[in-house]
Amino acid sequence: MKDCLFCNIARKEEKSTIEYEDGNFVAFHDIHPKAPLHLLIVPRKHIASIDHVEPEDTSLMGELILTAQKVARLRNLKGYKLLINVGREGGQIVDHLHLHLMANL
Ligand code: 5GP
Ligand code: ZN
Repeated sequence: MKDCLFCNIARKEEKSTIEYEDGNFVAFHDIHPKAPLHLLIVPRKHIASIDHVEPEDTSLMGELILTAQKVARLRNLKGYKLLINVGREGGQIVDHLHLHLMANL
């Protein structure tokens, strides 16, 4: 999507510090980290939120979790937190589905 911040980050049209990327996902550092390591993992596909996930996205959502696991293993993390905010009332500010990965280093 053209005017979406995280689509633009995934396309590298907007600056970010990318930690990991593959064909379906990009993981980059949150601009206002709330933990010593705070990454955002986004699908390249524009999905506005968990509330917009369709049955056709089922395997992509599974891959999202496996991507978090992969990034954590690459970092040798002993433990971490995963968080998805859904909707304004749920604390979601950017309308492109993203998984927060937070850890102490
Ligand atoms: P949400 O509240 O929508 O779940 O999380 C959005 C996150 O995106 C926030 O933690 C915020 O700090 C981060 N964020 C907002 N704008 C930018 C940006 O331009 N670049 C990066 N890297 N992170 C951003
Ligand atoms: Zn988007």
